Amino acid sequence: MTAPQRWRRPAVTVAATLTALTFGATVASAGQDRPAPGADGAGDSYYPQDGNGGYDVSDYDLKVAYAPDSRQLTGLQTVNARATQSLSSFNLDLRGLTVDSVKVNGLPAQFSRTGDHELVITPRNSLARGLRFSAEIAYHGVPEAIPGAIGEDGSNGWQHTRSGGAFAAGQPQSAMTWYPANETPRDKARFRLAVTVPDEWKAISNGREAGTFKTAGGTTHVWSEDTPAAPYMTTLAIDKWTLNKRQRADGTPIVSAYAPGIPDTTKQADARLPEILDFLESKFGKYPASAAGGIYLNEQIPYSLETMSRPIYSGGAGDIGTIVHENAHQWYGDSVAVDKWKDICLNECFASYATWQWEQAKDGVDLDARYFDEIAANGEKFWAGKLYDMGPGNEFTDVYFKGPVMLHALSKYVGQEAFDRVLKTWPALHRDGNVNMQEFQRYVEEVSHKDLQGFFDAWIYRNGKPAPEYLYPGDLKPVPVVASPAKGASVRPGAAVSGTAAPGQRVSVTVDGAAVAETGASKDGAWRTTLPVNLAPGQHTLTAASAGQKRQSAPVPFTLTPAGESALHTEQTFVPEARAGANTVLTVSFAAPKGMPVSTTAEQRFVAPTGFRFTGLATHVADTGGPGRDLRTRIEDDGRILVVLDPIQLNLPGSPRAPTTAPCR
Ligand SMILES: [Zn+2]
Repeated sequence: MTAPQRWRRPAVTVAATLTALTFGATVASAGQDRPAPGADGAGDSYYPQDGNGGYDVSDYDLKVAYAPDSRQLTGLQTVNARATQSLSSFNLDLRGLTVDSVKVNGLPAQFSRTGDHELVITPRNSLARGLRFSAEIAYHGVPEAIPGAIGEDGSNGWQHTRSGGAFAAGQPQSAMTWYPANETPRDKARFRLAVTVPDEWKAISNGREAGTFKTAGGTTHVWSEDTPAAPYMTTLAIDKWTLNKRQRADGTPIVSAYAPGIPDTTKQADARLPEILDFLESKFGKYPASAAGGIYLNEQIPYSLETMSRPIYSGGAGDIGTIVHENAHQWYGDSVAVDKWKDICLNECFASYATWQWEQAKDGVDLDARYFDEIAANGEKFWAGKLYDMGPGNEFTDVYFKGPVMLHALSKYVGQEAFDRVLKTWPALHRDGNVNMQEFQRYVEEVSHKDLQGFFDAWIYRNGKPAPEYLYPGDLKPVPVVASPAKGASVRPGAAVSGTAAPGQRVSVTVDGAAVAETGASKDGAWRTTLPVNLAPGQHTLTAASAGQKRQSAPVPFTLTPAGESALHTEQTFVPEARAGANTVLTVSFAAPKGMPVSTTAEQRFVAPTGFRFTGLATHVADTGGPGRDLRTRIEDDGRILVVLDPIQLNLPGSPRAPTTAPCR
């Protein structure tokens, strides 16, 4: 409704002054405008024929009678509006149905039907710019839905239920299937509905109950929504409802309607609506509507919808997550509506993220873990999805899945405090207004003091997987993946431990819960370190984590086996000297890296120094001293080669240590 621009800036006093100035100018120039037809579309890039130009609706005052048996709807619509240009004619949107008569300012007006849904009204007198006028349209017929909403069988607008009732729900179009409207989110208006149905039926709509009374044709139910609503946010649902009436703590009336046969779980979920609204209010600021509730169909449709103040739910979709989502839209989508449908992420990304926030607060869900689960579970198709200007027909897809992931990344990129402040203040700044993505970007930049062009390009304006700086902002680091050792592998001391993480990420490795190494991932995300050499042989469990964070990789059990012969360093400690024919001792020492357990059964072969031949047994002496023990040996090649047959063990429990001595002469 009234100039949505007015709410785009926080400086309300300045905006008010501008409004007054504009009004003054309007009066002065009104007479100079040449009356012309109002545009037949509101200029949306996806749905150019939706909505109309040249006026701004302030109120719809709609009276309908509906006969479930014949599906016949009879309506009398009064549209109160203000001309924003001098109008020789103007359009409303109405699809199907028969128009019986039109009056403008009480005088009969000419009308015609053109295109898919244009009702062209030519008043007897042209309407000067700035003039308030009312148009009264009498019509009747059997309303029909617009096929082709979300899902193959989906429809938008007036739909019938198996119970014989009916309801209106749809996005981006719905109202035009059952009443003449300016069907654009840019023109919000108050909505008052008096609906007459046979006595055995009940009718529920948006806003507050404004009376129920007996009339000739049945019972008339009056509902009044004072919070300006886009036409598609209005609804009427007719069934044999059970109404559940409550109040919020501040007195806001809550009326929910349960269709016959809906499951108890739906009613139990709806019972938490006051708690849900309190929670959302704590995140998004004051609840923007004057009433609340839910309309719970017992009819499968492929969506639930954030109809103003009282969302409408598909049968079986009355679960907590959906209720949180649709009510979050009261702030993000309804009170603050999109400027163009290409901005739909400003509705759906936020409503979808609200369920994340709810689950974090109420169920203790770790959102960082959820973020990485989403990234791990999704591939190319996910990243190909667009969150902005996704094309007509694609608005209601990726925003639900990629949207909350993007917002979680944004919260880390700008910091939690700035993010929370944005979420809480944005709805109040734009209450009853329309917004676009560029405005949102500027506002987050203003609050966070950060240039966000790179982030918005990476996540919103373009598709494809964002660069690591946007995918892993702040402390939002993935749990490193351990590639080696493999689960259950047998490895040697000092073996390589490697895997992948975010580029540049610090990775800490623990074995049996104790930190053993920290390393950094390379530019392509590869990281590598080694197991400590002094790890005891046997079973161990290894995990990796982002340095300083609790979330661990899946545990990798492995068996440490002592190192083998190749880990040994063998050295002849001095050159023996002896007279010809005399004996001497050749001392050879075995060493392993400090603390590394080594066990080898390989035979150790020694060649006698030139001029010497081995003559006797080798003795094994630990470097801690103590008596040596004989080793099993074999002499080959006439004493030129000594083969030690006993296994060599170092740094193992009970193992003696080098050096080994071998007599020779
Ligand atoms: Zn939604």
